[in-house]
Amino acid sequence: MVSKIDARLRAAALAVLVVLAVLVTGAQFRAMWKDDLIVPGPGVTATKMLSDYFPGLAGTAGDTEVFILEGKAPGATCFILGGTHPNEPSGCLTAMLLVERAQVSKGRLVVAPRGNRSGFTCNDPQEGSPQWIHFTLADGSVRAFRFGSRGTNPLHQWPDPDIYINPSGQRLSGSENRNLNRAYPGRPEGTLTEKAAYGIMEVIRQEKADISVDLHEASPEYPVIHAIVAHERSEDLAAMAVMDLDFDGIRMRLEKSPPTFYGLSHRAWGDYSETMALLMETANPSQGRLRGRTDEHLVLTGQDRFYVKAAELGRLYVPFDSHGHPIEERVGRHMSALAAIWRNAEFVGSMLPIEVEGLPDFAEIMEEGYGHFLNPAPAGAV
Ligand SMILES: [Zn+2]
Repeated sequence: MVSKIDARLRAAALAVLVVLAVLVTGAQFRAMWKDDLIVPGPGVTATKMLSDYFPGLAGTAGDTEVFILEGKAPGATCFILGGTHPNEPSGCLTAMLLVERAQVSKGRLVVAPRGNRSGFTCNDPQEGSPQWIHFTLADGSVRAFRFGSRGTNPLHQWPDPDIYINPSGQRLSGSENRNLNRAYPGRPEGTLTEKAAYGIMEVIRQEKADISVDLHEASPEYPVIHAIVAHERSEDLAAMAVMDLDFDGIRMRLEKSPPTFYGLSHRAWGDYSETMALLMETANPSQGRLRGRTDEHLVLTGQDRFYVKAAELGRLYVPFDSHGHPIEERVGRHMSALAAIWRNAEFVGSMLPIEVEGLPDFAEIMEEGYGHFLNPAPAGAV
């Protein structure tokens, strides 16, 4: 009799523990769905959503903010997309800095920091990625950002087909159907990823973006790295920007967008709109195949002894020593390249100028750290 009561008590205690575990892990899981905070600066003149350009995205995990920074004087329009791949943080972080700091004096910036918003709500399985990265601000406070997945969250788009035939008719492996940068020019009646790609095309077309830049990172063993990839109509602008950067000691390669790279932004944005399409890549060992321990330290410092070894063996496409490639260098590289593109815009064809102030340069970001330039969270915001 006593043992029967004991067994019931144990069962009840176990049930309580299971319920507690489900509640705690469930709360942690749901916390991943919350958007990271962006604190728009005084340069933002309007905040829209992707669904304002393509209503088919309203209420979906693919809808995302589009910030407009209208200059005081007329000029050209530049669209900047971050977060196409949420496991490549320098792109999203650079776009966020534009929203929080940039003051446009001539022309207009249109900025979407979270290109694939769904991809920020999960990690890639079996990659051991950290869930969060943190930055200390000038006032000592801390802001956290999600380290996301390369693709759309499978909870939002499932199942993957065996073979994915993208909107340009190219056959790709099934999981690529959740890769935003294979889905252009998008499909208004397609998957969530294809709808997001269509929405982004609509932003470029409706805002009449003269220049459009997609910000990425690449593994150090990937050949297209420290590079600006240019559609054929953007080659002159990219070449001038690359030369300009070289004068400042920042080496970026100029890569031609191959005409058969269907579905990628640097190809499709230029083919399906009037914009000058560009894509940029910085070096991120935390997404590479040769990396060792994968944690926040690796994401932020870009230091990894296995990559140092790989560089010694001549296997990499970027220099790599014990200093690694810190997030400050990667954001600074994107920021400097954007500044070089804007500086040269008015020398291309009949394009009007773009002038942007308030942004730190490469040396300032390296000196002060990325977090120094973020705005503090407003009171009450988490
Ligand atoms: Zn990428």
